[in-house]
Amino acid sequence: MPPVENDTGKKELKSQIQELIDANQVMVFSKSYCPYCIKVKDLFKELKVECNVVELDLIDNGTNYQEMLLEMTGQRTVPNVFINKKHIGGLDKTMQAHNDGSLQQLLNGENENYDYDLIVIGGGSGGLACSKEAATLGKKVMVLDYVVPTPKGTTWGLGGTCVNVGCIPKKLMHQTALLGTAMQDARKFGWEFDETVKHNWETMKTAVNNYIGSLNWGYRVALRDKNVNYVNAYAEFVEPHKIKATNKRGKETFYTAAKFVLATGERPRYLGIPGDKEHCITSDDLFSLPYCPGKTLVVGASYVALECGGFLAGLGLDVTVMVRSILLRGFDQDMANRAGEHMGEHGVKFIRKYVPTKIEQLEAGTPGRLRVTAKSTETDEIIEGEYNTVLIAVGRDACTDKIGLDKAGVKVNPKNGKIPVNDEEQTNVPHVYAIGDILEGKWELTPVAIQAGKLLARRLYKGSTIKCDYINVPTTVFTPQEYGSCGLSEEKAIELYGQENLEVYHSLFWPLEFTVPGRDNNKCYAKIICNKLDNDRVIGFHYLGPNAGEVTQGFGVAMKCGATKEQLDITIGIHPTCAEIFTTMDVTKSSGGDITQAGC
Ligand code: FAD
Ligand code: NAP
Repeated sequence: MPPVENDTGKKELKSQIQELIDANQVMVFSKSYCPYCIKVKDLFKELKVECNVVELDLIDNGTNYQEMLLEMTGQRTVPNVFINKKHIGGLDKTMQAHNDGSLQQLLNGENENYDYDLIVIGGGSGGLACSKEAATLGKKVMVLDYVVPTPKGTTWGLGGTCVNVGCIPKKLMHQTALLGTAMQDARKFGWEFDETVKHNWETMKTAVNNYIGSLNWGYRVALRDKNVNYVNAYAEFVEPHKIKATNKRGKETFYTAAKFVLATGERPRYLGIPGDKEHCITSDDLFSLPYCPGKTLVVGASYVALECGGFLAGLGLDVTVMVRSILLRGFDQDMANRAGEHMGEHGVKFIRKYVPTKIEQLEAGTPGRLRVTAKSTETDEIIEGEYNTVLIAVGRDACTDKIGLDKAGVKVNPKNGKIPVNDEEQTNVPHVYAIGDILEGKWELTPVAIQAGKLLARRLYKGSTIKCDYINVPTTVFTPQEYGSCGLSEEKAIELYGQENLEVYHSLFWPLEFTVPGRDNNKCYAKIICNKLDNDRVIGFHYLGPNAGEVTQGFGVAMKCGATKEQLDITIGIHPTCAEIFTTMDVTKSSGGDITQAGC
């Protein structure tokens, strides 16, 4: 094509270029051999952003394009990059925008004037981590947190479930129970104390709650230090980019933001039977209960139920767990049953295959007296029992139904209220993200919510591409005999790989600390599941014994690195410990060999 000399030709070329800029989210004018252009194109490829490229050396009128681009942008060189119609510049300017996070903002079309760059709804594990990270990266951030009181009126401070009514008080109360056992052991080790040992609920509750209070305060200070605007109000969408915040006095304020992160967590589910909300408590009430719960019925058989039932029994209370079907659904059942068996041997009663149908108050008080009617899940049989406290722990519902998601167009799974997201925690609405317990099909654990929140902020505002890895997440159930696991349960491994392709190594063991007191001989248990098709890689790790969290964390790292059975075998153990069992396991489950531990 001849050089554009007349005004009409120039006008045509200009509008041609402008059309390209207007029609493409990313438009790059490039030369196919230019190394700087290659770098820019690679960056967009890495960011998985479609970019439209015109290679000026491969078209007839490339020089004219370059002259026109000079006229339009003041830049003649390539690459010449445009995002959402805005001229960015060459490689240096593009990389700079990538590093300071503004590239991502431009890609997301954030050119409008909003009150905030980011509003995070929910100040729990995920929300706090995300908002602090975003503010550290220079963004204007607001986090809203509001606790709707339980039917019993219990409420708490900033920090969400983990700090106030989850991991922290649970582990401290579990520790209280372990100390009780340690005191019994202590006499066997020669400690002499005459007084009758008894536990004072009020003292424990006050100490635990004082500690939680200090954490609540610490979170407030951290938000202030990082310039995150914390508002203690209930948030709900009124428009896709606008929320209404209602504080405890009912005052409504409206805020807008370019982006939103939903981190509203879950709350305990009730049974929906007569008397449950009036007379029962949930884990949201238990940790700050002003009086000792006394004889307790725990309804449910998962994490929360077994952990709470376990520590209450460890404090010396009469505890019964009512199980609808199995223990710890989703976990390795061999391990779950061993954890349950240990609880049974240490005083916890189990009523299997029953569900409550009615709760009646026989006597008010602190605690009062309740009558529980329950029916069998298999027969017509009805049973009744009297308890001081009924703790309902039958799962948790995502807090997504009253936050105006329809106003923002965010889809939820109508069956469970959970929010589906892509592997970047983005909902179906591009400027709305979700993290933590409300996510569909993800782990409901504090470190998972924190990791997802932090990485999300870095992807949004730092140009990072690192995503939260939800595979091989280590976890521990703090039952009286703790159960740590990472990777697949035996059932799931069989389903995925077939029994014939797996080798399961296992062993009972007797922690040295238990030998002198003479308790729980060969009751602790270790098991690994290896994939024969993949070099005997460890795909399931299971440990039932003391300090399960501490033991499992390290093996979680090993599994991230792809540990194989051979690598465990050549690792030298630390003696005398419980964890060393994983370096010496040689009995396979398929052999049926003896797995009791005889000596050290
Ligand atoms: P949350 O921490 O629940 O935070 C959500 C926050 O948002 C809450 O403060 C809520 O009040 C607030 N909120 C909700 N709606 C709104 C709204 N519309 N406006 C403003 N604020 C709102 N995990 C572990 O890793 N280890 C454990 O040992 C462990 N133990 C647990 C024990 C118990 C008894 C329970 C119940 C949970 C336990 N968990 C444990 C799970 C862990 O607590 C959660 O996975 C974690 O807290 C989830 O974080 P999140 O940010 O998703 O939500
Ligand atoms: P969950 O895992 O959803 O388990 C619910 C339990 O309640 C199951 O045993 C279920 O029995 C039973 N149940 C449900 N409906 C019932 C009914 N109508 N009557 C009787 N029983 C009923 O719930 P969760 O224990 O509350 O735990 C929630 C999440 O918190 C977990 O997924 C976990 O990730 C997290 N968490 C973590 C830790 C930790 O890391 N240590 C501790 C606590 C909680 P079926 O099996 O019959 O359905």
